[in-house]
Amino acid sequence: MQPVTFNNTVLRDGHQSLAATRMSTAQMLPAAPILDAMGFSGLETWGGATIDSCLRYLNENPFDRLRALKQAAPRTPQIMLLRGQNIVQYTSFPDDVVTAFVKANAAAGQDVFRIFDALNDVRNLTTAVNTVLACGKHARGEICYTISPVHTIEAFVEMGVALEKMGCQSIGIKDMSGIMSPQVAFALVKELKRRSALPITLHTHDTAGLGAASYLAAIDAGVDTVETSIAPFANGTGQPDTVRMLALLKGHPRCPQFDPDKLQQLREYFEDVYKQLGKFTSPANERVDSDILIFQVPGGMLSNFRNQLAEQGMSDKFDEVVREIPVVREALGWIPLVTPTSQIVGTQAMMNVKFGRWKMICQPAQDIALGKYGKAPGPINPEVLAQVVKQSGQQMVTQRPADLLAPAMAPLRKQCADKGLPTDDETVVLYAMYPQQVEALVKGMDVPVAPPPSPTVPIVPRVLAGEIITPVAGIAAGRGDSQLPIGRINHMRLDINNAPYEVTVERLD
Ligand code: MN
Repeated sequence: MQPVTFNNTVLRDGHQSLAATRMSTAQMLPAAPILDAMGFSGLETWGGATIDSCLRYLNENPFDRLRALKQAAPRTPQIMLLRGQNIVQYTSFPDDVVTAFVKANAAAGQDVFRIFDALNDVRNLTTAVNTVLACGKHARGEICYTISPVHTIEAFVEMGVALEKMGCQSIGIKDMSGIMSPQVAFALVKELKRRSALPITLHTHDTAGLGAASYLAAIDAGVDTVETSIAPFANGTGQPDTVRMLALLKGHPRCPQFDPDKLQQLREYFEDVYKQLGKFTSPANERVDSDILIFQVPGGMLSNFRNQLAEQGMSDKFDEVVREIPVVREALGWIPLVTPTSQIVGTQAMMNVKFGRWKMICQPAQDIALGKYGKAPGPINPEVLAQVVKQSGQQMVTQRPADLLAPAMAPLRKQCADKGLPTDDETVVLYAMYPQQVEALVKGMDVPVAPPPSPTVPIVPRVLAGEIITPVAGIAAGRGDSQLPIGRINHMRLDINNAPYEVTVERLD
């Protein structure tokens, strides 16, 4: 029996889950050569919310981080998390932008691309996967795990088979909420192994205390790789700690070998970094929280919910809003809760409680109902859909969402040139997602004021003096797998004195 291998997540998901993605490249570099020499099968170092955090908070060029880490850890494949057609943002980008982004990454040294779609619509993975393959890199197609009446083992396995057919070289199971039970982990891995020849990686979070046990069950079922981190950037809302996982596997025929002294050295190093990032860590993220098992929503989402409801003066409505989440999920076709759908569902649940169920439907929830994010796993509630069609004047789309988008690299390149920015692909693809931040970084200006951590903020228009403002659709901005803040520019439609207006809103405070 082959030993299971471990990917290490401390340089990406570890600090994203436990320290608001604030680990800087300088804090990573001393640990990189040690991590590189340990025998991990991969180091997750890039993607997810790290690009955003580099540009918004750390005043770092994310591509420079990748190059520095590649130099400091050249032996172990480096992994990034890519949101398919959303790249590392919340909405779809045209194919040419996705392609340019992947190529720029591959050129900067990225080895493995973990590619997922929030709706598990494999059409949204095609462009990214094909580009990764064309660059001679490794495409790991991810299955987002969630619990719903339409998410059966069979449905997940069908998706795995589809990923293999697309050309993915391995399959990842992404349990972003940490809600997969050991029994399901065993059954899913077993059946995927039976139906697909590809290596399988399980990625989970220990939010509800299930992570390490699910890994053990998956290892018994033949999973090839599991993903662990290094405490204190481990456990809780992060991945199970490597030392802890090894202890669980002691005497197991598939237990891998790691140097305990080096693991201890890493632990001591990251203890220091964790203290340095104390402003961004929280006991709520470190503990096991079984709320998530009751509500089946990501842990970061619940803790952020408490903050946002307080901001909205709705603290007493927490239970009501949380109970509304499955109602919204069901109506929107049982979509998984992962960036950006977790933020969208959360916002709509808040709006349902605040204004009455489906009285106001936020723009991104309308877009999900209309198929603009892709095909939902289950049917959209026909009454909600009818209301969205009426409200938006648009029909449901059935084609791949990016087929509706015009190529954008040429106009983006021109915008960069007009602003005096470099026009190379690296700059342009970052500019496509973070225009202000990229301009500030390149020109050495202060990074635009960062908003506080907050993944779902319903924007509720106020009535101004003398004007009747009827919100047709409010929009919420979302952030990161767990607790990253918002601040994107968003669009909102308003009816002002019965005339429609589209306005752009950015949260600055
Ligand atoms: Mn994760």
